[in-house]
Amino acid sequence: MSAAASDPVATARGADPAARKPGTAAAAGPVLAGSALTGPVLTGLTLARAEVDRAAHLRADAGWLASAWADPATRVIVVERGQTLCDFAAEQAAISFVGPAAISDGVRFLLGVDDAGVAYFGVSGPLPPPPRPGVRAAYLREAGPLLSDKDAGLLTHAVAVGNWHETFTHCPRCGSPTDPVSSGHARRCPVDDSEHFPRVDPAMIVLVTDPADRALLARNALWPEHRVSVLAGFVEAGESAEQAVAREVAEETGISVSSVTYLGSQPWPMPQSLMLGFRAAADTTDIRVDADEIAEANWYSRTDLAAAIAAGTLRLPPPVSIAHRIIESWYGQELPGSW
Ligand SMILES: [Zn+2]
Repeated sequence: MSAAASDPVATARGADPAARKPGTAAAAGPVLAGSALTGPVLTGLTLARAEVDRAAHLRADAGWLASAWADPATRVIVVERGQTLCDFAAEQAAISFVGPAAISDGVRFLLGVDDAGVAYFGVSGPLPPPPRPGVRAAYLREAGPLLSDKDAGLLTHAVAVGNWHETFTHCPRCGSPTDPVSSGHARRCPVDDSEHFPRVDPAMIVLVTDPADRALLARNALWPEHRVSVLAGFVEAGESAEQAVAREVAEETGISVSSVTYLGSQPWPMPQSLMLGFRAAADTTDIRVDADEIAEANWYSRTDLAAAIAAGTLRLPPPVSIAHRIIESWYGQELPGSW
């Protein structure tokens, strides 16, 4: 598809509340399985962390929702154009929640209920003023890696649903404005009664290796010099994720692949993607780039990669991205540098 599709970090349109125990955050280190991979191997992805139960069974419970919203202990995340208020006072970050009483505008949606019984809501609306120094508006990409598992899961959820409410405001059938229902997890058209759900665009991202176990890394035509990543692209309508892998790799680099293996997924609500990670084996090694999308593509051994990064001639995606984690799983240890 588009050149933008090849940039999982900067431009991909973008849930896996992965079952993870507290204290196993990304800082605890990725699962590194080398090149002999079977089954999903990527755990603890930065934006695939979650601790709060989404409590979907309460989304239609008007009585419970009203009492939860009236409870001053309820915490609210306001999101506006992908940003929310975060407290950066320490090295880590924390969401700057507000109480329901402070909210006067916006679309409300239930995020869930934590183990202590505290309810969490998101609101798509104007950001309140920062309550104190150190608190400022931030995007998920910046704040996500600095947040706890609990806050990272809440914010990823809130940004994804908030982005949808900001964009998908009208009925695709008749053009009428739609109303939020199901506690903000759906919208209904008052004219034809059709129901609409948050849109998620699946995108595949793949590490291709050749018989010598070299990795195929490419620079998107829109990226600055030296910046490279693995190949990525949107899954097209009527296509499986595995078919998208083979098609995108062939289109962008002329390489034919087989043995497509799933690695794991990460929500990437920027604004509405779900990144599906894969590895694939190259059946051919002769690279012919699609110059419209890809400026250059090359095979890298682990030694090549380390040397290029050390020389400053190569920069890899940041740790928040699934691309970074996929490359790291092949490299076998922590990557030495990133964008
Ligand atoms: Zn309609």
